[in-house]
Order: sequence, then C-alpha cells, then structure tokens
Amino acid sequence: MTRAILTLNAGSSSLKFAVFACDDSPTPEAHLLSLPVLARGAVTGLGERPQLTARDGEGRVLIDTSFATGGTDGSGPLRHETFLDAILGFCQAHLAGARLDAVGHRIVHGADAFSAPTLLTPDCLRRLEALVRLAPLHQPHNLAAVRAAMAALPGARQVGCFDTAFHQTLSPLARRFGLPRRFEADGVRRYGFHGLSYSWLTQRLAELDPELAQGRVIYCHLGSGASLCAAAGGVSQDTTMGFTALDGLVMSTRCGALDPGVILYLIDQYGMDVAELTTLLYQGSGLVGLSGLSGDMRTLLADPSSAAKEAVELFTYRIAREMGALTMSLGGLDGVVFSAGIGENSPEVRARIAARCGAIGLKLDDRSGGGDRLISAPESQLKAWVIATDEERVIAAGAAAVTASTGADAAV
Ligand code: ADP
Repeated sequence: MTRAILTLNAGSSSLKFAVFACDDSPTPEAHLLSLPVLARGAVTGLGERPQLTARDGEGRVLIDTSFATGGTDGSGPLRHETFLDAILGFCQAHLAGARLDAVGHRIVHGADAFSAPTLLTPDCLRRLEALVRLAPLHQPHNLAAVRAAMAALPGARQVGCFDTAFHQTLSPLARRFGLPRRFEADGVRRYGFHGLSYSWLTQRLAELDPELAQGRVIYCHLGSGASLCAAAGGVSQDTTMGFTALDGLVMSTRCGALDPGVILYLIDQYGMDVAELTTLLYQGSGLVGLSGLSGDMRTLLADPSSAAKEAVELFTYRIAREMGALTMSLGGLDGVVFSAGIGENSPEVRARIAARCGAIGLKLDDRSGGGDRLISAPESQLKAWVIATDEERVIAAGAAAVTASTGADAAV
C-alpha cells in the first residue's frame, strides 16, 4: 500500500493541501523534496462560498465542488474540522490505496523553541498557543487545523513545520532591536517568516543556478503577505519581517514597517486599544488601506484610480528600498529571485521594482514565459530568476523526515 503524507497550510481565507507519496523504503534526505505528488488542492472562500478544488500531479482536475455553508462560527477560527472532513473524504474517494501516515502542518510562528520540523504533542500545542498573539492572522488557523487533524486521524503523526525556522541562522546583530536587553532575553527579537518558501527557493536555485545559489541573493516572496530574505550560500542572513509578520514591506492588508511613534500617537490621540490596533495593522492597512479598494494586486493593477496607482507605487518603492538595505546586510549582491503570487505572475510589478533598482545593477529582460526562468538582461550586473514557490513540498519533506526518525508503526 502506498504510504502518503497530507500537508495542510491553513490560512484565514483558505486551507491549502497536498498529498505526497512515500516509498515504503526510507527516503534519503536528499530525495525528500522530490516526493511524487498525488494531489494538490485547496478549500478557498472560507466564510463566503467555500469551494474545494484539487488536481493530480499532471494538473488534471480531480474535484471542483462548492459548499452551501459559509463555514464560520462568526468569530473564532474557521471550522477547519468541516473542511478537513471534506479533504479526507476526497482522499478516500480519489486516492484509493494510499494510507495517510502523517500530516504536515505549516505553522507560522515557532519562536526559538521550534527550530525544525517537530512531532506535535498536546504539550507542543499549548506552547504554540502562547504565540497566537504574535501571529494573529495565521497561528489560530494553523493550530485549529492541527487539532482537527488529530481528532480525524488519531493514528497519523502530526508534524509542525515552522516559517520562522529558516531564519535561525540570523546573527545576534541582525536579530536585535534597539531596546533594553531584558526584552531580548524575553524573546523580543527579529524571527523572520516565509521560511518554508525560502527553504524551497534556496534549494531550487541550487539546482537551477548552483553558482548563483552559493552567492549573495535576495529572495522576494511577494504574495498577500510579502517579505524579502537576504541569503548567502542559501543561508538566511537578514530578512524584512521581524518579531511578527507585520514588519517590512507593505502587504495586502498589513502595514509593514512603521515608525513606532505612530502606534503611540494612535493610542494617545485616537484612544485605540490593542484589539483595534491589531485589526487596523493586520487587516485594514497595506494595499487595502492605501487604495480604499482592494488588497488584491490584480484588482489594483487594473484600476485607473490614483489611489490604486499610489498603493502599487508604494508597494514597489518599499521593495526597492529594502533591497538596498539588504544589499548592505550582505555586503554586495549577486542576484534576486521573485516568487509567490505577485512575484511569479506579474511582469508589470517586477518591471516597476527593477526600474527602481538600477543603482544595484538590476536590468530585466522579462519576456513572457512560464516556469522557473532567468529574467535578467545579458548586460545586467545581477542575475534575476522567477521561481515558483512550493511550501507544500517543504512541509511534506519535513513530515517525512520526522516520521522516518520516529518509527513507522503509527499509521492509520
Ligand atoms: P497567499 O498565498 O499569501 O494568499 P499568493 O502568493 O497566492 O498569496 O498571492 C496573492 C497575490 O498575488 C494577490 O495580490 C494576487 O492579486 C496576486 N496575483 C496573482 N496573479 C497575479 C497576476 N497575474 N498579476 C498580478 N498579481 C497577481
């Protein structure tokens, strides 16, 4: 019987999943990232009109179905149990003969304690619960999915894979804030996020362009959430996100880096409390706050209003500005990699970023095309690649490694 690993990437409006096959023989570490994919899909539109879609490894549609219910209880995390049941029902119907050995979960914040894929126990969940206030957009949904999977698949191992883990290599200098040292001792420091994506991108670049991957590269994860990672030889040296995933770039609904004096002003002059500030900074700022229209880049690019144009302009300006700063962190730059929804799919946004990066020698020859590809002009001082991210593979590889190291006798 084929052993399989289910990956769950639970967000505020979607629950992405994938199923990978594992051979019965132990998979060597080097081959974990090439596990065959049996299906990939998502439940999207949670809270509105949920829809379950999935495709097989060749891209053929396996299921495309809508749910009548909104699927929320009105306030707390979305009811992941309902949608996990739908995903498991899909697995049973379409992946006959596959046995789910493990479920790998994306967990956004692992702080210092969770620096590698980890077998999740009730005690781990309690400790991860304490980090909810540091990642309120993601962590509650991530943990709800773990609980739902524990209940639905009591015999499968649940493995947490952490977005913060990739940045454990940051130096004490790059981690530190200009605060009294006692706060750092209490864990108030830069952690960095999108690590599952950066893990994939660094390994993929090592296949595509091994010489560049050994050099100094800025990886740009530009999706609804957006960040940059400065890596040398594929190892994270600095990154734009910090203690939380609010820092750095202007994002779909998040503000990015902000003068801390603004927070003091909002408290003092507007009487805002923690709950109001959390909603404003995580959900009402960024592209949606600036444009007053949408946090979706496609919508903004198509909109003729000056507010939409200015929102996109600030998005690209801040990316270029942070690229300059990270070039100094690395002591020079050899290349950039664009990824995630905007980075992979928008030549227009890539061109606008490049137009501001002439000073660091970036020149694109970005003809339309698909797949992972080199997009720098021959005369560019920097190489530039577009690489599709694949957080699911990194999660599956982590889950497979933990499952192998903890024995194989707990399958469903
Ligand atoms: P997440 O996984 O964080 O929800 P994604 O990586 O899917 O985010 O990125 C979503 C963003 O990508 C949205 O702002 C969307 O508009 C943008 N996007 C997707 N395709 C395109 C495109 N062809 N041109 C411009 N933006 C795009």
